[in-house]
Amino acid sequence: MAANPRPCNLCGEERQISFLYTRNGYSIHKCQRCGLVYVGVLPTAGELTELYGDSFFEASSKFDASANSPSLVNARDRVAQILRLPGIGRTRWLDVGCATGEFLLAGSEVAGELHGTDISAYAISEGRRRGLQNLRDGNFTDLDYSPEYFDLITMWDLIEHVEDPARVLHKAFAYLRPGGYLVLSTGDVDSLASKVMGRFWHLMIPPMHTYFFSRSTITRYLQEAGFTDLRITYTGKIVPLDFMVEKAARLASPRLSQAVQPVLRKLGLGRVRFSINLFDIMTVVARKPAHAS
Ligand SMILES: [Zn+2]
Repeated sequence: MAANPRPCNLCGEERQISFLYTRNGYSIHKCQRCGLVYVGVLPTAGELTELYGDSFFEASSKFDASANSPSLVNARDRVAQILRLPGIGRTRWLDVGCATGEFLLAGSEVAGELHGTDISAYAISEGRRRGLQNLRDGNFTDLDYSPEYFDLITMWDLIEHVEDPARVLHKAFAYLRPGGYLVLSTGDVDSLASKVMGRFWHLMIPPMHTYFFSRSTITRYLQEAGFTDLRITYTGKIVPLDFMVEKAARLASPRLSQAVQPVLRKLGLGRVRFSINLFDIMTVVARKPAHAS
Protein backbone atom coordinates (compact mmCIF):
# COMPACT_ATOMS: atom_id res chain seq x y z
CA MET A 1 0.00 0.00 0.00
CA ALA A 2 1.36 3.43 -0.93
CA ALA A 3 1.49 5.83 1.99
CA ASN A 4 1.60 9.58 1.43
CA PRO A 5 5.22 10.26 0.44
CA ARG A 6 7.31 13.01 1.99
CA PRO A 7 8.30 15.96 -0.25
CA CYS A 8 11.22 15.53 -2.66
CA ASN A 9 14.56 16.09 -0.87
CA LEU A 10 16.15 17.43 -4.05
CA CYS A 11 13.66 19.92 -5.50
CA GLY A 12 11.04 20.26 -2.75
CA GLU A 13 8.15 19.05 -4.93
CA GLU A 14 5.19 17.96 -2.80
CA ARG A 15 2.44 16.95 -5.24
CA GLN A 16 3.87 15.48 -8.42
CA ILE A 17 5.31 12.40 -6.77
CA SER A 18 4.42 9.13 -8.45
CA PHE A 19 4.29 5.70 -6.83
CA LEU A 20 6.56 3.12 -8.49
CA TYR A 21 6.18 -0.07 -6.43
CA THR A 22 6.53 -1.58 -2.99
CA ARG A 23 9.68 -3.35 -1.91
CA ASN A 24 10.27 -4.95 1.53
CA GLY A 25 7.05 -3.27 2.67
CA TYR A 26 8.30 0.23 1.76
CA SER A 27 6.76 2.29 -1.02
CA ILE A 28 9.18 3.63 -3.62
CA HIS A 29 8.35 6.95 -5.27
CA LYS A 30 9.66 9.12 -8.07
CA CYS A 31 9.54 12.89 -8.20
CA GLN A 32 8.03 13.90 -11.55
CA ARG A 33 9.78 17.25 -11.46
CA CYS A 34 13.43 16.26 -10.91
CA GLY A 35 13.41 12.46 -11.25
CA LEU A 36 14.60 11.60 -7.73
CA VAL A 37 13.63 8.06 -6.65
CA TYR A 38 13.20 7.53 -2.91
CA VAL A 39 11.46 5.75 -0.08
CA GLY A 40 8.19 7.58 0.61
CA VAL A 41 8.18 7.11 4.37
CA LEU A 42 11.50 6.92 6.21
CA PRO A 43 12.16 4.09 8.64
CA THR A 44 11.72 5.02 12.31
CA ALA A 45 14.69 5.61 14.63
CA GLY A 46 13.99 2.23 16.24
CA GLU A 47 14.05 0.44 12.88
CA LEU A 48 17.35 2.12 12.01
CA THR A 49 18.99 1.15 15.30
CA GLU A 50 17.95 -2.42 14.66
CA LEU A 51 19.27 -2.22 11.11
CA TYR A 52 22.72 -0.85 11.91
CA GLY A 53 23.31 -2.79 15.10
CA ASP A 54 26.50 -4.80 15.61
CA SER A 55 25.23 -7.69 13.50
CA PHE A 56 25.16 -5.47 10.37
CA PHE A 57 28.94 -5.22 10.45
CA GLU A 58 29.60 -8.65 11.91
CA ALA A 59 27.63 -10.31 9.15
CA SER A 60 29.06 -8.10 6.45
CA SER A 61 31.79 -9.50 4.26
CA LYS A 62 33.45 -6.10 4.71
CA PHE A 63 34.42 -7.30 8.15
CA ASP A 64 37.44 -9.23 7.08
CA ALA A 65 40.71 -8.44 8.73
CA SER A 66 43.03 -10.30 6.36
CA ALA A 67 45.58 -8.18 4.53
CA ASN A 68 44.34 -9.28 1.12
CA SER A 69 40.61 -9.25 1.79
CA PRO A 70 38.53 -8.14 -1.20
CA SER A 71 37.48 -4.99 0.63
CA LEU A 72 41.09 -3.98 1.26
CA VAL A 73 42.06 -4.74 -2.34
CA ASN A 74 39.13 -2.60 -3.53
CA ALA A 75 40.11 0.14 -1.08
CA ARG A 76 43.66 0.22 -2.50
CA ASP A 77 42.20 0.56 -6.00
CA ARG A 78 40.16 3.51 -4.80
CA VAL A 79 43.21 5.17 -3.25
CA ALA A 80 45.16 4.68 -6.51
CA GLN A 81 42.27 6.28 -8.44
CA ILE A 82 42.20 9.24 -6.04
CA LEU A 83 45.94 9.83 -6.29
CA ARG A 84 45.48 10.43 -10.03
CA LEU A 85 43.22 13.46 -9.40
CA PRO A 86 44.95 16.70 -10.42
CA GLY A 87 46.10 18.73 -7.43
CA ILE A 88 44.87 16.21 -4.83
CA GLY A 89 46.17 17.05 -1.35
CA ARG A 90 47.44 14.35 0.99
CA THR A 91 47.39 16.20 4.30
CA ARG A 92 43.94 15.44 5.72
CA TRP A 93 41.36 12.93 4.49
CA LEU A 94 37.93 12.14 5.88
CA ASP A 95 35.93 8.98 5.11
CA VAL A 96 32.25 9.33 6.00
CA GLY A 97 30.61 5.97 6.69
CA CYS A 98 34.05 4.40 7.16
CA ALA A 99 32.72 1.06 8.53
CA THR A 100 35.64 -0.91 9.97
CA GLY A 101 38.17 1.34 8.23
CA GLU A 102 39.33 -0.45 5.06
CA PHE A 103 39.60 2.71 2.94
CA LEU A 104 41.42 4.58 5.73
CA LEU A 105 43.86 1.69 6.21
CA ALA A 106 44.63 1.78 2.48
CA GLY A 107 44.87 5.59 2.64
CA SER A 108 47.27 5.50 5.59
CA GLU A 109 49.97 4.29 3.20
CA VAL A 110 49.88 7.62 1.31
CA ALA A 111 48.10 10.36 3.28
CA GLY A 112 48.91 12.21 6.50
CA GLU A 113 45.97 12.64 8.85
CA LEU A 114 43.11 10.18 8.36
CA HIS A 115 39.69 10.79 9.86
CA GLY A 116 36.63 8.58 9.79
CA THR A 117 33.03 8.60 10.99
CA ASP A 118 30.44 5.90 11.16
CA ILE A 119 27.01 5.52 12.68
CA SER A 120 28.07 2.17 14.17
CA ALA A 121 29.99 2.36 17.45
CA TYR A 122 30.91 -1.28 16.92
CA ALA A 123 32.52 -0.57 13.53
CA ILE A 124 34.42 2.40 14.97
CA SER A 125 35.81 0.30 17.82
CA GLU A 126 36.95 -2.31 15.27
CA GLY A 127 38.64 0.46 13.27
CA ARG A 128 40.47 1.66 16.39
CA ARG A 129 41.53 -1.88 17.18
CA ARG A 130 43.10 -1.97 13.73
CA GLY A 131 45.23 1.04 14.62
CA LEU A 132 43.22 3.93 13.18
CA GLN A 133 42.99 7.15 15.15
CA ASN A 134 40.67 10.14 14.59
CA LEU A 135 37.56 7.98 14.34
CA ARG A 136 34.22 9.26 15.60
CA ASP A 137 30.98 7.36 15.90
CA GLY A 138 27.73 9.15 15.25
CA ASN A 139 25.61 10.62 12.49
CA PHE A 140 27.78 12.77 10.17
CA THR A 141 25.22 15.59 10.18
CA ASP A 142 25.49 15.80 14.00
CA LEU A 143 29.31 15.86 14.08
CA ASP A 144 31.31 19.05 13.66
CA TYR A 145 34.66 19.52 11.93
CA SER A 146 36.60 22.69 11.21
CA PRO A 147 35.56 24.49 8.03
CA GLU A 148 37.89 24.06 5.03
CA TYR A 149 39.89 21.42 6.86
CA PHE A 150 40.06 18.44 4.50
CA ASP A 151 41.77 17.85 1.14
CA LEU A 152 39.47 14.92 0.44
CA ILE A 153 36.15 13.62 1.71
CA THR A 154 34.99 10.17 0.61
CA MET A 155 31.60 8.49 0.97
CA TRP A 156 31.61 4.90 -0.26
CA ASP A 157 28.08 3.52 -0.64
CA LEU A 158 26.86 5.98 2.00
CA ILE A 159 24.67 8.66 0.43
CA GLU A 160 21.85 6.20 -0.43
CA HIS A 161 21.54 5.38 3.30
CA VAL A 162 21.13 8.86 4.78
CA GLU A 163 18.01 10.73 5.79
CA ASP A 164 18.89 14.07 4.16
CA PRO A 165 21.43 13.85 1.30
CA ALA A 166 21.28 17.62 0.66
CA ARG A 167 22.40 18.35 4.22
CA VAL A 168 25.19 15.74 4.10
CA LEU A 169 26.59 17.21 0.86
CA HIS A 170 26.37 20.81 2.11
CA LYS A 171 28.30 19.82 5.24
CA ALA A 172 30.94 18.01 3.21
CA PHE A 173 31.33 21.11 1.02
CA ALA A 174 31.89 23.29 4.10
CA TYR A 175 34.57 20.97 5.52
CA LEU A 176 36.57 20.82 2.27
CA ARG A 177 39.34 23.28 1.59
CA PRO A 178 38.96 25.27 -1.65
CA GLY A 179 40.12 22.98 -4.44
CA GLY A 180 39.41 19.89 -2.30
CA TYR A 181 37.66 16.81 -3.65
CA LEU A 182 34.56 14.85 -2.75
CA VAL A 183 34.52 11.28 -4.07
CA LEU A 184 31.46 9.12 -3.56
CA SER A 185 29.97 5.92 -4.87
CA THR A 186 26.31 5.02 -5.20
CA GLY A 187 23.99 2.96 -7.39
CA ASP A 188 22.54 4.27 -10.65
CA VAL A 189 18.78 3.72 -10.76
CA ASP A 190 18.81 4.63 -14.47
CA SER A 191 21.27 1.82 -15.26
CA LEU A 192 20.29 -1.09 -17.50
CA ALA A 193 20.61 -3.53 -14.57
CA SER A 194 18.17 -1.47 -12.51
CA LYS A 195 15.71 -1.10 -15.41
CA VAL A 196 15.76 -4.81 -16.21
CA MET A 197 15.45 -5.96 -12.59
CA GLY A 198 13.01 -3.27 -11.41
CA ARG A 199 12.15 -3.70 -7.76
CA PHE A 200 14.40 -6.79 -7.65
CA TRP A 201 17.54 -4.77 -8.52
CA HIS A 202 20.24 -5.74 -6.00
CA LEU A 203 20.50 -2.16 -4.70
CA MET A 204 16.74 -1.65 -4.34
CA ILE A 205 16.86 -2.60 -0.66
CA PRO A 206 14.75 -0.34 1.55
CA PRO A 207 14.88 0.52 4.38
CA MET A 208 18.68 0.15 4.23
CA HIS A 209 18.73 2.29 1.08
CA THR A 210 16.38 5.26 1.16
CA TYR A 211 17.46 7.11 -2.04
CA PHE A 212 18.17 5.81 -5.52
CA PHE A 213 20.19 8.31 -7.53
CA SER A 214 20.85 8.68 -11.24
CA ARG A 215 23.53 10.64 -13.09
CA SER A 216 21.06 13.49 -13.38
CA THR A 217 19.90 13.64 -9.73
CA ILE A 218 23.33 13.19 -8.13
CA THR A 219 24.69 15.88 -10.47
CA ARG A 220 21.97 18.32 -9.43
CA TYR A 221 22.55 17.56 -5.73
CA LEU A 222 26.27 18.24 -6.03
CA GLN A 223 25.83 21.40 -8.09
CA GLU A 224 23.34 22.77 -5.59
CA ALA A 225 25.82 22.09 -2.77
CA GLY A 226 28.38 24.21 -4.72
CA PHE A 227 30.54 21.53 -6.32
CA THR A 228 31.98 21.80 -9.84
CA ASP A 229 34.15 19.67 -12.18
CA LEU A 230 31.87 16.65 -11.83
CA ARG A 231 32.99 13.35 -13.32
CA ILE A 232 31.05 10.10 -13.20
CA THR A 233 32.58 6.70 -13.95
CA TYR A 234 31.42 3.12 -13.47
CA THR A 235 33.99 1.20 -11.50
CA GLY A 236 33.90 -2.56 -11.08
CA LYS A 237 34.60 -4.46 -7.91
CA ILE A 238 37.07 -7.24 -7.34
CA VAL A 239 35.47 -10.41 -6.05
CA PRO A 240 37.40 -13.57 -5.16
CA LEU A 241 36.23 -16.82 -6.77
CA ASP A 242 35.67 -18.63 -3.43
CA PHE A 243 33.31 -15.82 -2.37
CA MET A 244 31.28 -16.23 -5.58
CA VAL A 245 31.05 -20.02 -5.33
CA GLU A 246 30.10 -19.87 -1.66
CA LYS A 247 27.43 -17.26 -2.41
CA ALA A 248 25.99 -19.41 -5.21
CA ALA A 249 26.00 -22.45 -2.91
CA ARG A 250 24.24 -20.45 -0.19
CA LEU A 251 21.47 -19.54 -2.64
CA ALA A 252 20.95 -23.27 -3.25
CA SER A 253 21.07 -24.29 0.41
CA PRO A 254 22.83 -23.27 3.63
CA ARG A 255 24.03 -26.86 4.07
CA LEU A 256 25.68 -26.90 0.66
CA SER A 257 27.39 -23.64 1.56
CA GLN A 258 28.78 -25.25 4.75
CA ALA A 259 29.95 -28.26 2.76
CA VAL A 260 31.83 -26.32 0.07
CA GLN A 261 33.73 -24.00 2.43
CA PRO A 262 36.54 -26.43 3.39
CA VAL A 263 36.85 -27.55 -0.23
CA LEU A 264 37.21 -23.94 -1.39
CA ARG A 265 39.88 -23.30 1.22
CA LYS A 266 41.78 -26.40 0.13
CA LEU A 267 41.65 -25.38 -3.53
CA GLY A 268 42.83 -21.88 -2.70
CA LEU A 269 40.17 -20.34 -4.91
CA GLY A 270 40.38 -17.12 -2.88
CA ARG A 271 43.50 -16.30 -4.85
CA VAL A 272 41.51 -16.20 -8.08
CA ARG A 273 39.79 -12.85 -8.40
CA PHE A 274 37.26 -11.49 -10.82
CA SER A 275 36.52 -7.92 -11.61
CA ILE A 276 32.75 -7.51 -11.80
CA ASN A 277 31.16 -4.48 -13.36
CA LEU A 278 27.42 -4.28 -14.00
CA PHE A 279 27.77 -0.56 -14.80
CA ASP A 280 25.16 0.21 -12.17
CA ILE A 281 27.44 1.73 -9.52
CA MET A 282 28.66 5.28 -10.10
CA THR A 283 31.88 6.68 -8.75
CA VAL A 284 31.35 10.43 -8.64
CA VAL A 285 34.21 12.90 -8.34
CA ALA A 286 33.38 16.54 -7.54
CA ARG A 287 35.51 19.50 -6.60
CA LYS A 288 35.05 22.54 -4.40
CA PRO A 289 36.04 25.57 -6.51
CA ALA A 290 39.49 26.84 -5.66
CA HIS A 291 38.23 30.40 -5.26
CA ALA A 292 35.26 29.53 -3.01
CA SER A 293 35.19 31.25 0.34
ZN1 LIG B 1 12.16 16.48 -7.07
